[in-house]
Amino acid sequence: MNTYAVYKTENYDDEILYSAVKKHFEVHNIKAEIPENARVVLKPNLVTDKEAAFSVTTNPRLVFAVIRCLRDIGVNNIIIADCPGGALLLFSQMQDVYKKTGYDFLSEYAHLNTDFESSDIETADGLVNRKFNIINIIKNADYIINLPKLKTHNITCITAGVKNIFGTIPGLQKPAFHAKYPGVSDFSNMLVELAATVDADFTIIDAVDIMEGNGPTNGKKRYLGLTFSGKDVFGLDSFVAEILGVPKNQVPTITAAEKKGLITSDFTAVGDTDFRPDSPIVLPDLKMAESTGGKIVARLNTLFVKLDSAVFMKYPQMNSKCIQCKKCVVTCPAKALSVKDKKIVLDKNKCIGCLCCDEVCPEGAVDIRKKIKKR
Ligand code: SF4
Ligand code: SF4
Repeated sequence: MNTYAVYKTENYDDEILYSAVKKHFEVHNIKAEIPENARVVLKPNLVTDKEAAFSVTTNPRLVFAVIRCLRDIGVNNIIIADCPGGALLLFSQMQDVYKKTGYDFLSEYAHLNTDFESSDIETADGLVNRKFNIINIIKNADYIINLPKLKTHNITCITAGVKNIFGTIPGLQKPAFHAKYPGVSDFSNMLVELAATVDADFTIIDAVDIMEGNGPTNGKKRYLGLTFSGKDVFGLDSFVAEILGVPKNQVPTITAAEKKGLITSDFTAVGDTDFRPDSPIVLPDLKMAESTGGKIVARLNTLFVKLDSAVFMKYPQMNSKCIQCKKCVVTCPAKALSVKDKKIVLDKNKCIGCLCCDEVCPEGAVDIRKKIKKR
């Protein structure tokens, strides 16, 4: 039977995190399952080069606590690897990401990966995607620890364990998936198939500070004071939604995993399982309910969100914070963005609403607008 754990984790103090991660290791008996001399890869969320205070990336102090716990059980070959969004991937650019996200001090304890060579990995029979191209460092790992940041997300509603695995796909191949699967359910199905194929061994979620509202990069930081863990990433995400009070039918990766029979109701929950947030988590599409404050509108929200994704398409509008770094332009899979008169210009006819531009923007310069989908 799968076990999911949630522990109150007051803040990012090293000893508090160490004690929490130790409990997560012990409850899942991680010591017993990591082979001797194993090459262990830690996969945090380093989607962009924002410092930890913005609550966009996995906090480096949590990663440090995981390294300490691994060393306690004799694991010393530890690699930290993620592929940020966008067209990066020169050695110096990745070093810049490590520096800005506060990860560079971890080089004393683990190898910070800058090698994004990739190769194909076959999927199981019966999946829509026959193979995925992922970075070799993940493909060749003996043991993978998935370390997501808990956030809201403009497309998948919540980004936790399953969505974090998207970072195993290198650079500009990520926007290409948005182009291939412009619909939310097809895209979410792909994320589930990828997570099932990569098959991370263990997941610990950073939910001390989370992001709500317009995530994954431009929402508001919110204190939650928790860490979650589990070996089965699909059920873990569902467990997280339950604790947060987020309706599971609004999280398309959970719906897609349920459809594939990857989530069972038969599990053991341990730790601070009675915890509930003192006010609802603000989701990307809850603005309507918030602004009217009406109970009826709030009840209609689930239906509204479903209709909303069927009827409307989201598109970006750059605001005055734009510094013309052009990260969005080179990332856009539909070539819908260009620079004219020192401004970023959108061709709405080309835009597929993937919001990769929002994800890679370092300045919070992308406002999300909606238009009616063309039939
Ligand atoms: S919108 Fe953001 S990513 Fe695009 S050019 Fe402006 S600052 Fe850069
Ligand atoms: S401009 Fe449109 S297609 Fe291009 S990255 Fe942004 S949302 Fe995606």
